Amino acid sequence: MVTFILLGTIVSNVCAYKSYSKHQLWRLHVENNEQVAKLLEFSRIAHLHDINFWSEEFRMNMPIDISIPPEAIDSFSEYLSSNDDKIKYDVVMNDIGAVIDRQKLLHKLRPSTFNADDFAYDKYHTLEDIHAWIDKMVQTYPTLASTFTVGQSYEKRDMKGLKISSSKLATKRDGTPVNQKKAVWWDGGIHAREWISPATNIFIAHTLLSNYSKDPTITHLVDQFDYYILPVFNVDGYAYTWSKDRLWRKTRSKTIIPLCFGADPNRNWDYKWCEGGASRDPCSDTYCGGKPFSEIETVQVSKFIGAHNDTIVHYINFHSYSQLWMTPWGYTTKKPDQFKLQDDGSAAAVDALGAVFGTQYVHGNIGATIYVASGNTVDWTSGTANVTFSYAVELRDTGEYGFLLPEDQIIPTGQETLAGELALLKYIEGHVYA
Ligand SMILES: [Zn+2]
Repeated sequence: MVTFILLGTIVSNVCAYKSYSKHQLWRLHVENNEQVAKLLEFSRIAHLHDINFWSEEFRMNMPIDISIPPEAIDSFSEYLSSNDDKIKYDVVMNDIGAVIDRQKLLHKLRPSTFNADDFAYDKYHTLEDIHAWIDKMVQTYPTLASTFTVGQSYEKRDMKGLKISSSKLATKRDGTPVNQKKAVWWDGGIHAREWISPATNIFIAHTLLSNYSKDPTITHLVDQFDYYILPVFNVDGYAYTWSKDRLWRKTRSKTIIPLCFGADPNRNWDYKWCEGGASRDPCSDTYCGGKPFSEIETVQVSKFIGAHNDTIVHYINFHSYSQLWMTPWGYTTKKPDQFKLQDDGSAAAVDALGAVFGTQYVHGNIGATIYVASGNTVDWTSGTANVTFSYAVELRDTGEYGFLLPEDQIIPTGQETLAGELALLKYIEGHVYA
């Protein structure tokens, strides 16, 4: 009898959604380089203890958020104070599992706000729902919207996007038409658990479509650019966050280690690949992959961008969280020659974003703003594909909920990010159609 119960528990655990019951989120306050080095070293073995770094930052005076399972709370606390140079921390979340459970319940219970398009923009959605929403947009706005796909993922899911394109010619400032319309690429969900990033892409895309010919700024900017929007880049990882583990980050490909899956698709690009701020350990959350472009998902997006780099002038790789609007480089703390041109666009975006609800963003180059992260997306789009206005944006919040941003912040995040993006598009327009 006992055997049966035990077996039943094991089987149900294998199939169940990963439990974060009593896991705590800690915010570490790192005060010197020795402490940074200590945590960097620890990060290489953290997965062995089911300890998960939510922050990618490993810098002095930058908070580092880490989730700790109940069985490691005492030993990790001891480790942090293991010498005279004690690393201080606060407990930000007492029970991550309880937050996940509460949000799941609210998601199910709260009536959706249905609008004319019959889609709840104030809720998170499964991959199937997002793909159905893309079809719905094409049906509702047939003269502006179409679908595109960059191919299939490792687990054979479509990497399906929404293209927005008007039949009007783009124009220079003086009103003369230009022959070749420039294009924009935005994506979300390259890291699976960053659910606010697909939701923000969806909100922005819908606002552009539903306000075309009503709002003069939106109408003008939709006429000036073609938009390629891939709401969910890492489709396998995203599906996995809905079915198995809310806090999964990487792709889902097999690695050389049997129980460790996936590479970090934001460390897998063939530009200064795995030179720093990335791991060669397949079990690490920042695993750069067995080789550059080992992941089919990054290969396909890079091919698409490469094939359209005569028109694509602007790329955003949306992430969460930290409220940062960043430009290359990530592989080094050095700034590219065109840094000022890129960063002035960030400044315009951050100002307009902050004017909506007062949300504060920091802007700068990745290497100096967070930490060196080589093989990342925008180093490649900028360095190899020559997409000048390439940005990595970390959306809300600054750590209160982190990846578990509540659904009631989806629309405000969408509204302020759209304001930032419209300001940035106006800035870019001034440069590419001069
Ligand atoms: Zn991310």
